Amino acid sequence: MGEMEISLAEIAQRVANCQKCPLYKNTTKPVPGEGNPKAEVMFIGEAPGFNEDQQGRPFVGRAGKLLDELLSSIKVARSDVFIANVVKHRPPENREPLPTEIEACREYLDRQIEIIQPKIIVTLGRFSLEKFIPGVKISQVHGLARFVEINGRKIIILPMFHPAAALRGAGVMNMLRQDFLKIPQFLDNQEKVPLENSATKEENTKDNGSQLTLI
Ligand code: SF4
Repeated sequence: MGEMEISLAEIAQRVANCQKCPLYKNTTKPVPGEGNPKAEVMFIGEAPGFNEDQQGRPFVGRAGKLLDELLSSIKVARSDVFIANVVKHRPPENREPLPTEIEACREYLDRQIEIIQPKIIVTLGRFSLEKFIPGVKISQVHGLARFVEINGRKIIILPMFHPAAALRGAGVMNMLRQDFLKIPQFLDNQEKVPLENSATKEENTKDNGSQLTLI
């Protein structure tokens, strides 16, 4: 089997055996991510927390409950989407992942995206946003969809606040709820979004690979 044919299960196995950065130490379980291998939407968060580390599953604590509720609000089942994080092992004391750790872990998430080929990636929080649209502020770009070329395919990136941040403040919660409501329009109207015009404009934009604001 060629490298490109590696499956999601194999990625999970590699994550389970990975020692490429120190994060695996003192963790309970790896959290490679889970969901529909043919998902149209991928949600990508930051890192596993306490509950995720205990269960080996992404977004299962309070932030996960909120994510479930938000998915219900747009009538999307959790089993329809794929949920992952930028790093696959829990950082000690839930500290932020270091750039070296994110870089060490990058291949796993990149492979998952290659396999799943989602139409939309919803970034949850600034570490996930930084991966796809570097150098922007989440407060300025949340809810604004852009095209980003990944492995030769244009994927819609829809930046959002992390659900954990929403749990800390009503203002962010409201913004996250509103931003979530934008997801179905891309799923339902995928053919109607002016992709052609967008692609043309995108080629004319030189900044940073040129993502284009769709809405
Ligand atoms: S966080 Fe990623 S790179 Fe670090 S040990 Fe875990 S799987 Fe490997």
